[in-house]
Amino acid sequence: MELIDTHAHLYDKTYDADRADMLQRAKESGVTLILIPNVDIDTIAPMIQLERESEGYCKPMIGIHPCSIDSDYKSQLNVAMKWLEKHPFFGIGEIGLDFFWDKTFKKEQEDAFLEQCKWAKAMDLPVSIHSRNATDEAIYLLERANLGIDGVFHCFSGSVEQARRIKNLGLSMGIGGVSTYKNVKIGEVIEEIGLDHFVFETDAPYLSPVPKRGKRNESAYLTFILEKISDDLKVSAAAISEAFSNNSKRIFNKCF
Ligand SMILES: [Zn+2]
Repeated sequence: MELIDTHAHLYDKTYDADRADMLQRAKESGVTLILIPNVDIDTIAPMIQLERESEGYCKPMIGIHPCSIDSDYKSQLNVAMKWLEKHPFFGIGEIGLDFFWDKTFKKEQEDAFLEQCKWAKAMDLPVSIHSRNATDEAIYLLERANLGIDGVFHCFSGSVEQARRIKNLGLSMGIGGVSTYKNVKIGEVIEEIGLDHFVFETDAPYLSPVPKRGKRNESAYLTFILEKISDDLKVSAAAISEAFSNNSKRIFNKCF
């Protein structure tokens, strides 16, 4: 069975003591490839280092996360753009909107998000979108911009209606640990939309699935998420992992 983790921050300091073991556990769990997005300009170098150390098992994406956007965001975008000119990346991320913590830089977040989506279009790269308390706003911006980009709304736990609009945009949704939490009914959304628009992700070290909830997350825990989706949909784990892996290969085609 093949699993692809389409979004994990494995360069994070929380793995410094056991990163090689953690990656080994991922391989033993059937994870064949991991996409790693930076979040700000300081996380680019450790991300590239992990790409080298892992000999391409971890593939980098680049972008500026909405929580890192402030009045000086253009200088951060410039740094990311310089990297894009000199190093191969496999997606634009992590980008998006986050109105959960702070709306002070709402306008700047929207400008930075759209600007980076335009990079994705120009470079024919998929996006990895973060949208916390801002999924409707992110969908609306993309509908209005009509860029025709591919990619993933990462860590999706929204409604069927939102999923339908994302599908209509030609985008897909990342299913992670949140799908294993009580009261989250992502199975119903997948049933309604169809398997073709979903991929797996962990967002490690965050959002560990049950039964590891509250602990540090890692890519090997994709198996818990797979099990949950398989139970919810009453479809074999093999069929789901195959469908989601094929979707990942279609979207992140430059990795394969
Ligand atoms: Zn993330």
